[in-house]
Amino acid sequence: MTEQPFTPGLIAPEPLTSPAYWFLFDGYRLLVHVDKEEKVANVPRVISPAELGVTAVSRHYLGYLNTPEGEIHCFTGELATKTAVPTGMITAGLRRLYPMLPETLFQIAGRAVQIVDWDRTHQYCGRCGHPTDILPNERAKKCPHCGHTSYPRLSPAIIVRVTRQGANGPEILLAHGQRHRTGMYSVLAGFVEPGETLEQCVQREVREETGIEIQNIQYFGSQPWPFSNSLMIAFTAEYASGNLKIDPQELADAQWFPPDNLPLVPPPISIARQLIDDFVRQHTT
Ligand SMILES: [Zn+2]
Repeated sequence: MTEQPFTPGLIAPEPLTSPAYWFLFDGYRLLVHVDKEEKVANVPRVISPAELGVTAVSRHYLGYLNTPEGEIHCFTGELATKTAVPTGMITAGLRRLYPMLPETLFQIAGRAVQIVDWDRTHQYCGRCGHPTDILPNERAKKCPHCGHTSYPRLSPAIIVRVTRQGANGPEILLAHGQRHRTGMYSVLAGFVEPGETLEQCVQREVREETGIEIQNIQYFGSQPWPFSNSLMIAFTAEYASGNLKIDPQELADAQWFPPDNLPLVPPPISIARQLIDDFVRQHTT
């Protein structure tokens, strides 16, 4: 097994003796160094945010990055309100920063933004309203008054590629969602409901959105998706029966497409695109 670049952790080294990456957020916007053209971004590396001239009102240890020069520790925190952005830096949302940041740092930023958001929204106990304490040995907060414990919230969502053998060869089912930008088609997706298995969710989403039945559901892979605290769990499936009949609340259109004539599809960052690219690869000689 190859060494993972990032090792998660909870206990910060004390004292911190070498500069660490600091993922500092103003709301959902990350503070980064940028070049003049604002094409390349980097996460600040300092012992303390004070070196940047900013104040963090919270501090969470994330773990460390394994690099050729050794371990680099990673912290996240929330900037004090009305923090002035230092010269040569910007704050920006993660979608904008995706093409600007090194991939490993982007992934850690996705982790960090969810921890900061959880910290911000769980200052008080959801059951009794008492201020909560952060637990030292797990990523959790506990109410000292009633004992209620809360964890960072993750919303599992399935995403599924449905294919069939059409009259002229293999085809993939792609849909244009009511919320998609103009002209973009993607595979089907939806949130898992309480009490449901992932496989049941896959079948239900496909049935509800397109009216068809599927078979041979296979696990494909997964991807954390920080923009809505989701964990995307991807599957492939084969068409079994039924005619396309879309749910107009969710979809504007759904069609079967051959691999050599696809519409506009999602960007490579997404597991949706990986599902589609995998289909194209399988059927291109
Ligand atoms: Zn409580």
